[in-house]
Amino acid sequence: MKKPLLLLGLMILTIFGTMGAQSTYIHCGQLIDCTDGEVQTQMTVIVEGNIIKEVKKGYATAPSGANTIDLKNRTVLPGFMDMHVHIEGESNPRSYLDRYTLNEADVAFRAALYAKRTLMAGFTVVRDLGGSGINVSLRNAINQGITEGPRIFTAEKGIGTTGGHADPTNGRKRLDLGDPGPKEGVINSPEEARKAVRQRYKNGADVIKITATGGVLSVAKDGSGPQFTQEEVNEIVRTANEYGMISAAHAHGAEGMKRAVLAGITTIEHGTMMTEEVMDLMIEKGTYFVPTISAGKFVMEKAKIPGYFPPIIVPKALAIGPKIQETFAKAYKRGVKIAFGTDTGVAPHGSNAEEFVFMTEAGMPAKDAILSATKVTAELLGISDELGTIEAGKKADIIALPENPLENIKSTMDVKFVMKDGQVYKNQ
Ligand SMILES: [Zn+2]
Repeated sequence: MKKPLLLLGLMILTIFGTMGAQSTYIHCGQLIDCTDGEVQTQMTVIVEGNIIKEVKKGYATAPSGANTIDLKNRTVLPGFMDMHVHIEGESNPRSYLDRYTLNEADVAFRAALYAKRTLMAGFTVVRDLGGSGINVSLRNAINQGITEGPRIFTAEKGIGTTGGHADPTNGRKRLDLGDPGPKEGVINSPEEARKAVRQRYKNGADVIKITATGGVLSVAKDGSGPQFTQEEVNEIVRTANEYGMISAAHAHGAEGMKRAVLAGITTIEHGTMMTEEVMDLMIEKGTYFVPTISAGKFVMEKAKIPGYFPPIIVPKALAIGPKIQETFAKAYKRGVKIAFGTDTGVAPHGSNAEEFVFMTEAGMPAKDAILSATKVTAELLGISDELGTIEAGKKADIIALPENPLENIKSTMDVKFVMKDGQVYKNQ
C-alpha cells in the first residue's frame, strides 16, 4: 500500500510543479516582434516555462517568485533561423584530408561545438542541408538536453547522382570508389530516387536535400550543369511530400534549377545563374530562394590563397562566388520569396549573421532581411504556429542585440542575449 501512495504523491507534485512553471518578465528597451518588422519601445515579454504568455506595453513588475531580465538597453527579437548550414564540418585547407583522418566521434565532437557557437550567435533554429548522419544524432542530443545547440531540421545526407555534387566518392582513388547507391544518397533512376528519399526518412531526416547541379566544393569539373533528369527530381519531391518532408535543391545553373522548381521543390539554394524565367517560375510556384551570399564570398576569397582548395575547385569558386550577391539583388527586386540561409560550414559557424550585412548591401531593406530569418523561415519550415515571432502562445526563442538592427545591421553580429525554449543560454 505504501508504494502506490508514494507514487500518487509524486504525481501530485509533478502536476503542481507543471502548473507553477517559472515566470520570467523580460523588459525590452526596443522590441521587434517580427509580425511586421516594426519597432516597439519599452515592452515586457512574459515567459512562462517555455511559452510566451503575454507581450505588454511598458515595464510590468514581476510578481514575487518570478524572474526579471533587464534588456532595457537592448533590441529584442525572435531567435534567428538559418535555412542552410552544414553543422558537421567547417571548410579549411585540410578539409579534403579530414575525410580520411577523422573518425565519426571526431566529427561528432566538432559538430557539438559548432552547434553551440551557432546558438550563441543568436540562431535558435537551423536547417542542416547535408552531412553524414551525425547531424541526426546531434539533433536528438540537443532535443534531449545532452548538448547545447539550436533546434535542428536536418537532411541527414544530401542526394546526388553518380559523379554529382553529393557523390561521396568524388575525387577518391579507385580503391575507395565502390558503387554508392540510394542508401548512400546516390541515385540514377526515379526508382532509386524514391528509395533514397525513403532511406533518408528511415534514417531520421526532417527534410530532403538534392544537388540539382554541380557544386563549387566537390572534386569535380562542372559546377553548373543539371545532374538529375526531370523524372528523377519529380520522384524525389513527390516521395518527400508523401512522407511530410519539405525539399531543398542546391543549384547554380538555370536548367537544374528550373527542373527542381517545376517538380515543386520548396527551396532553391545558391541560385547563382538564376534567369528571369526561373525567377518568374519561382514566384508562380511559391518557391523560396535561399541565397547563401556568405558562402559565395568566402570561397571566392579563399580561392585566391594558393593551395587552400584543390586546383579543380579554384576556377569554379572564382566564377560562382561573386555572382550570388548580384543574383540575389535581382531576385529580391523581382519579387521572389527570400529565406535567410548562409551555407555556414563553408564559412565558420557562428558567423551566420554576416549574411544580413550582405543582403542589405545588395539593396534589401534591413526590415525585410530580419523578417527573412524569422517570420519567413518559420513559414518555410511549417512551424509558424510555434516560432518565428514574439507573440503570446509561441515558444520562447528570444534574442537581444546591442542596437536596433534596422539602424545598424551589423549589430546582428553581436548577439548579447539568447533564450531558447524558455531557457537562457547567454546574457551579457
Ligand atoms: Zn550547402
